[in-house]
Amino acid sequence: MKYCETCRELFGWSDAIDLTEGKCQICGIVGPVNDTKLMLNPHLPQVIQLFGDEYDFLSNFYKIAVPFEGMLWPTSEHSFQGVKTLDEGQRRLICHAATPGKAKRLGRTVELREDWENIKFNMMLRILMSKFRFGTDISNKLLATGDAVLVEGNNWHDNIWGHCFCEKCRTEVGMNGLGKLLMVVRNQLQTLETLHRGNHVLLQ
Ligand SMILES: [Zn+2]
Ligand SMILES: [Zn+2]
Repeated sequence: MKYCETCRELFGWSDAIDLTEGKCQICGIVGPVNDTKLMLNPHLPQVIQLFGDEYDFLSNFYKIAVPFEGMLWPTSEHSFQGVKTLDEGQRRLICHAATPGKAKRLGRTVELREDWENIKFNMMLRILMSKFRFGTDISNKLLATGDAVLVEGNNWHDNIWGHCFCEKCRTEVGMNGLGKLLMVVRNQLQTLETLHRGNHVLLQ
């Protein structure tokens, strides 16, 4: 696989090797790229960077009921936008928004809870833990991504929750917040799966 220096840093892959001219297979930029065939140990995790098609369930816009803070939200996006405020009426309004896009827009108009900036990543993590509850179909789909690196690649300049691949942003190293938290949840699920399997063996 060929990948540029920016993507190498973004995905935390070590050792740059002989760079050759080519096209990055992750972000599409043309320039100096690493070619993993040149590596002695070519193991690299796969990258899932489009939360659509077969991986649409990784997106916060995916339609699935998420129980969180005493309410049942139509998507994880709805719940994230809703809990930005402590106002019950505003929460209900967001919960009833017809689409996650509308919930997101409503989320920009609410009275933010004072501690929001300090808790938003933890809040997203808790929402994802509720969305991907152990033993559900959707959590099994997350487990099936194995050790793939998860990144919400986008073209709307979001380098906090994902990584934007536009001309302007693609050389920035994004935070990949959503991808990292999804990987935290997957890690927990993997641990739970191991424990359950171990228990099963003992009971046999
Ligand atoms: Zn790249
Ligand atoms: Zn951008």
